Amino acid sequence: MSLSGNPSLVLDNRALYLQKKAQLLSALKQQKDSTIGLNKATSNLFRHRLDKTKSQISLKDFNGVVSLDTENCLAEVEGVATYETIVDALLPHGHMPTVVPELKTITLGGATTGVGIESSSFRYGLVHETIAALDLLTSSGDIIECRPDNEHRNLFYGFPNSYGTLGYASKLTVKTHPVKKYVRLRHIRHTHYKDYFAELERYCKDKETYDFIDGVIFSSDEMYICLATFTDEAPYTSDYTGMNIYFRSLQQKEEDYISTRDYIWRWDTDWFWCSKFFFAQVPWVRRLYGRDRLRSTTYWAIRNFCSRYKITNLLEKISRQPKEMVIQDVEIPVQHSEAFMQFFQKHIGISPVWVCPTKVYDPNAQYSLYTMDPDRLYINFGFWDVVPTTHEDGYHNRLIEDKVEELKGKKSLYSTSFYSEEKFWKLYNRDLYEELKKKYDPQGKFKNLFDKCVGN
Ligand SMILES: Cc1cc2nc3c(=O)[nH]c(=O)nc-3n(C[C@H](O)[C@H](O)[C@H](O)COP(=O)(O)OP(=O)(O)OC[C@H]3O[C@@H](n4cnc5c(N)ncnc54)[C@H](O)[C@@H]3O)c2cc1C
Repeated sequence: MSLSGNPSLVLDNRALYLQKKAQLLSALKQQKDSTIGLNKATSNLFRHRLDKTKSQISLKDFNGVVSLDTENCLAEVEGVATYETIVDALLPHGHMPTVVPELKTITLGGATTGVGIESSSFRYGLVHETIAALDLLTSSGDIIECRPDNEHRNLFYGFPNSYGTLGYASKLTVKTHPVKKYVRLRHIRHTHYKDYFAELERYCKDKETYDFIDGVIFSSDEMYICLATFTDEAPYTSDYTGMNIYFRSLQQKEEDYISTRDYIWRWDTDWFWCSKFFFAQVPWVRRLYGRDRLRSTTYWAIRNFCSRYKITNLLEKISRQPKEMVIQDVEIPVQHSEAFMQFFQKHIGISPVWVCPTKVYDPNAQYSLYTMDPDRLYINFGFWDVVPTTHEDGYHNRLIEDKVEELKGKKSLYSTSFYSEEKFWKLYNRDLYEELKKKYDPQGKFKNLFDKCVGN
């Protein structure tokens, strides 16, 4: 799409993108046999990533915002630009992407192929539904533009949930919307699942009143719906980037006001609540961390360190209590959400659980590797913890996989999966995937989706 001559083009780095693209293509031509890899600075992937070192030509410089058109509410963004970079570039112009995942280092390319979600998803759908076009680097070393209305439309619709196995996005066009200065929050407590999910569904139908809706389940008799609305004026603003902890405020306040920027990153400071594993919720330790280090990247760095030096394994051995990592996001149709939570509480027992509603934005768009029923509201449940176990590894994750299938839900693949190959392809559309693979990666230079998400 040409944006030239457009007075509402308030950011324009298109020449720089074209330059990077030309350099990449020329490097690829010179080194015909080199592996293409992302080689990103950050990651939010919870399964092991193999072959990192093999990457010779990387996309890591594709990390900026290319353009912003405030009139048409579209931004062109490079594939590995983090949402923190994108928000920093767009907010001064009064815009943000229509869906911004919670963690600052999630990238637009990663969230599009990895089925990202946030509290505006009840209005705009999952992250990939906010994308209008993408430039994909395919295994042949070409960059092709994929749009819903061109010859690569099947690849456009097949990219979400392909996790870099069909190509890497070097640029994406994302829909934006105007923002106001502040966000007003209301936290509504419920004590029964039935009422909770019924009310959540009712609020989600009211797209005029609310800009953002999510929630947290602390236990079977303590759960909150968080309704958020943009506002130009705020009587006060709370700050959850220092000593105060955002998720606790849900239990403490019925109403709150925060700046729009702080709302966007409200979950990053404490990595939802996972900062507890790093003692960052202990007041004196929190003070030692300091404001600048209270962010998801810090926890990632500590986690990677512990995992590299096998400290986690050592601690588990000392405690003599085997544990299974259960880090997942699943989407369940709202009418089965109560059943899911009853199961979850009985067999898994992790709390809190993050709750985020989402509905298909365009009923005519079928994303082939992650199909959803356009008539249903889905509830995303996010849970990230370890559970004590006496079973074989994967026991609890398998229980969840079976339950999600039984309740006609979907499971995202950014973390561990235990599906058999047959089951996996039944759930994630083998025929269409193979068609795309044959066309865009005939020599299998990129991994196969099953091998990448389950096999290793
Ligand atoms: C604890 C935790 C909580 C999470 N919570 C949320 C949440 O609340 N909301 C949410 O939206 N998501 C959440 N996620 C999931 C996250 O959005 C996905 O894991 C997403 O894929 C991460 O993107 P990334 O940019 O960090 O990519 P990475 O983690 O680096 O990579 C993820 C996958 O995407 C592929 N990929 C990355 N960039 C590109 C590209 N440009 N082109 C093609 N393929 C690419 C990689 O090959 C890899 O397979 C959570 C993850 C964790 C670990």
